[in-house]
Amino acid sequence: MTKYVYLFSEGNGQMRELLGGKGANLAEMTKLGMPVPFGFTVTTEACNRYYDDGEQIHEDIQKEIFEALSELEKKTGKKLGDKENPLLVSVRSGARASMPGMMDTILNLGINDEVVETIAAKTNNPRFAYDSYRRFIQMFADVVMGLSKARFETIIDEIKAERGVKLDSDLNADEMKEMVSKFKEFYREQLHDDFPTDPRVQLIKAVEAVFMSWNNERAIYYRQVNDIPSSWGTAVNVQSMVFGNMGNDCGTGVAFTRNPATGEKKLFGEFLMNAQGEDVVAGVRTPQTIDQLKEVAPHAYDQFVKICGILENHYKDMQDMEFTIENGNLYMLQTRNGKRTAAAALKIACDLVDEGLINEEEALMMVDPKQLDALLHPQFDADELKKAKVIAKGLAASPGAAAGQVYFTAEDAIAAHNNGEKVVLVRLETSPEDIQGMAASEGILTVRGGMTSHAAVVARGMGTCCVSGCDDVKINEEAKTFTVNGVTYHEKDWISLDGSTGNVYGEAVKTVPATISGYFERFMSWADNTRKLQVRTNADTPRDAKQAVEFGAEGIGLVRTEHMFFEGDRIRAVREMIVSKTEEQRRVALAKILPMQQGDFEAIYEVMQGLPVTIRYLDPPLHEFLPNTDEEIASLAEEMNMTFDELKNVVVSLHEFNPMMGHRGCRLAVSYPEIAEMQTEAVIQAAINVNKKHPEFDVHPEIMIPLVGDKAELKFVKNIVVKKAEEVMEKNGVHLDYKVGTMIEIPRAALLADEIAEEAEFFSFGTNDLTQMTFGFSRDDAGGFLKDYYEKKIYEQDPFARVDQKGVGKLIKMAAEGGRATRPDIKLGICGEHGGDPSSIDFCHRIGLTYVSCSPFRVPIARLAAAQAAIRNK
Ligand code: PEP
Ligand code: MG
Repeated sequence: MTKYVYLFSEGNGQMRELLGGKGANLAEMTKLGMPVPFGFTVTTEACNRYYDDGEQIHEDIQKEIFEALSELEKKTGKKLGDKENPLLVSVRSGARASMPGMMDTILNLGINDEVVETIAAKTNNPRFAYDSYRRFIQMFADVVMGLSKARFETIIDEIKAERGVKLDSDLNADEMKEMVSKFKEFYREQLHDDFPTDPRVQLIKAVEAVFMSWNNERAIYYRQVNDIPSSWGTAVNVQSMVFGNMGNDCGTGVAFTRNPATGEKKLFGEFLMNAQGEDVVAGVRTPQTIDQLKEVAPHAYDQFVKICGILENHYKDMQDMEFTIENGNLYMLQTRNGKRTAAAALKIACDLVDEGLINEEEALMMVDPKQLDALLHPQFDADELKKAKVIAKGLAASPGAAAGQVYFTAEDAIAAHNNGEKVVLVRLETSPEDIQGMAASEGILTVRGGMTSHAAVVARGMGTCCVSGCDDVKINEEAKTFTVNGVTYHEKDWISLDGSTGNVYGEAVKTVPATISGYFERFMSWADNTRKLQVRTNADTPRDAKQAVEFGAEGIGLVRTEHMFFEGDRIRAVREMIVSKTEEQRRVALAKILPMQQGDFEAIYEVMQGLPVTIRYLDPPLHEFLPNTDEEIASLAEEMNMTFDELKNVVVSLHEFNPMMGHRGCRLAVSYPEIAEMQTEAVIQAAINVNKKHPEFDVHPEIMIPLVGDKAELKFVKNIVVKKAEEVMEKNGVHLDYKVGTMIEIPRAALLADEIAEEAEFFSFGTNDLTQMTFGFSRDDAGGFLKDYYEKKIYEQDPFARVDQKGVGKLIKMAAEGGRATRPDIKLGICGEHGGDPSSIDFCHRIGLTYVSCSPFRVPIARLAAAQAAIRNK
C-alpha cells in the first residue's frame, strides 16, 4: 500500500521527489541530530492523488495524517485542540524544487476560543496568545478561504488609529482580543460561516489549501518560467510550532551561509526579536543583521554558526536557512540551497572547488545557465552616472542597472511593458501576486523590506535589478505617486535604479553593456572543456557578430540576409527589385543591392576571422518590404517613376492569404533565380576579397537555402549557386572552398532528409518554422491562444521557446538520422530560437548535433547548458 505520510524521523535528504525539498531537508536535519521541531510530511503523491480523486483528500490519507498527528502528540506531549496542553502546528508547502513565495504557509494552526485562553494562562502572556490567534485567522482566511489579506490590514489600521498607536507591537492584549473578534466577524460576514473551531477540521482544510495552491495562477506561471512540470505536485509539512514572538528571549530569522549577492564567504542574514517568521520575510519591520545576534542571544548564535558549517559541508553548497529562537533555544525550521545572484553563483562555485568541497563538474551543475543572463546585462554609463542626482537610497537588493518609467501596480507594469515601454515598478512592498509585473519590469523599487524580503529574493532569482527598503520614498499607491524630499513623482515619470548600490535617481540614466568578471572566464573555461556541442550565434550585423565572439561564439549559424535590406537607403533598391516587371529591370535593381550585400559580408567575415559563417538566402515574403498605406505607396511611386495605380496593383498582386506559407524562402529563388545569383556573387566575392586581405582567415562560406521541402527544389537552387560561384572564382582566378546546405524547417524536409542530404552538405534545423508547421500554429499569433492551453493544462510550455521533444523533436531526430544515413559526416546544427534554451540544448546534445546557434547574449547560456548536457548524459 502506498504510504502518503512520513514523520520527519522516517525520511531523509534523498527523498525530495516524494517529500519535496523542504520535507526532505527537515528529515535530513532531523537525521543529523539538529534541533528541528517534530513534524511530518504529506507526500507529493498525496497531492497528485488529491487531484486524481477530484480534488478531495481520500479517507485513507486523512487517516494517515491523523496517525502521524498522534505520533507528533506523543513526542511533544501536547494534543491538538487540548484544553490542558494544546499543540499548535505550522502547515507549509514544499515542492521538489524551491518555489519561493509561490505557495502558502499557515502558522499557529490549532487555536480556537478555548485553546487561546489556555495559551494565555500557560504563557502568562495573553497578548501573545491573542496575537497568535489573530495571525492564524488572517492566514487561514487568506490561504484557505481566499479572503484578501489587505482587508485584515485595514481592520488593524483602524484599531491602531482608534487607539492612537503606530505599531502593531504597541497594541495590548485587550486590543489584540478585540482584533480577533473583529476578524471573526469579518470572516462570518464574508463567508457566511463561522471560523472553524475544530482543529482537526482546520488541519485537513489547510492541507487541502496547500494542494490547491499548487495550481494557483502564480504557481503555474512560476513553473512555466522555471521548467517545472505540474506532475511533480507539492508536499505539505506539518510541524509543531515554536514561537519567536513569546518575549524578548525569542526571535526568528533567515540567514545564508555565504553572501547571496556577492558570494563572499561570510554568514549573511537578518533576524527580529519577539517576532514570528513572516515578519522578517514580509519586511514590515526592519530586521537586525545576523552578526548582532551574537550580542542579543550569544548561546543560540554560537549553536547556529556551528550548524551552518555542518549544513554547508553536508550539502556542499551555500545554504539558506530559517530559524526560530524560543526562550533562548534555537530551532531550525528550514534549510535549502540558497538562491543567489549570477555573480555570487560563479564565485561560490569557484570557491567551493578551491575549498575542495566539490569538483569542476559539480560546480558546473550548480549554476543555472539562464542566470548568466544577469551578468550580461547593462550597467550605468559611468560619466552619465556622475551627472545624475541620487534622490534616495535603499538596500542594494539585486544588482544591475535599470532606467524606466514608473508604474505602481503589476497590471499597469505589464500593460506598459506590452506597449514597448521600459518600466520601473514602485511598490510599498511586493507579494507573490506581483510576480508577472516584476518580470515585465526593468527594475523594482520597494519602500519596505530587507534583503530577504519578497521583492529582494524574487528579483535576484529573476536577475532583475531591485532596490528594497527605500523608506526615503513616501508612496501613495492609490494616487499613483511617490514623494521624495518634497518632490512628487507620477506614473510614467522616468527614474533609474542601481541594484548594486541601492541608489535611486530621479531621471533616466544611460546604461552600457555589462562587463564580465574573472570568475566568469574561469568557470566558462570549465564549461568549454566539458561540452561536446559547439556554440554559434545568430547575427546579421558585424556589431552583433563581434559581441557574440566576445561571449564565446565559435561561428555564425545564421545570418538572416533580409535583415540587412531594411537599413537606410537600401530599402529603396530592394523595393525597386520587388516591383520590377521584367527580369532585366530586376537585374538592374539587384546590381544596386550587390555591393551593399558584399560589403556587409566582408565586414562579417572580418569580425569572425575565419570562424565559420552560415549565410541564409533571402527568406521572407516580398510584400514585407513593400509600403502599406496609400500615402507610402504614393511617395514610393513618385520615387520610382510609376503611377500610384501601377504600384498599388503590384502591392495588391503580392498580397497573400497566408504569407508564412507563401512566396518565401527558396521559392523566391525558384521564381527569380537572379536573386540567388546576386547573393552568391556577394557571398563568394566577399570571401575572396577578405582572404586576399587576410590570408590567415581562410574564409569558407556556408550557403544555406531556406524553406526547402524537396531534393529537386534544393538541387535547382544549388545549381544556380554553384554556377555563379564558379563564375566568380574563375573571374578572380582563385579557388574557394564553400558549402551549400539547407535548413530543415518544413516537416516534409524532415521526412525526406535522407534524399535531401544527397544535395545538402549540411543541415540546420529552423525550429521556429518547423514548430509552426508541425503544430500548425502561426508563430506570430499563437501567443494569444496558447495562454488558454497553459491554463487548461493541455500544454505546459511554449513550444516556440522550448523544443517540443515529443513531436517536433521526433522530426528533428528522424531528419538527423536520415541525413547521416546518406552523408555520415554531415554537419548538423540548430538555428531556431530554441538554440539558446537549456532544455532544448540538452535535447540537441542527446541526438548528437554538431552545434547550436543562438542570439549573442545567449551564447554563454548555451555554452554552460551544453556542458551540463554533456555531464548529465554521460
Ligand atoms: C527558423 O525558422 O527556425 C529560422 C531560424 O528561420 P526564421 O526564424 O528566419 O524563419
Ligand atoms: Mg525559418
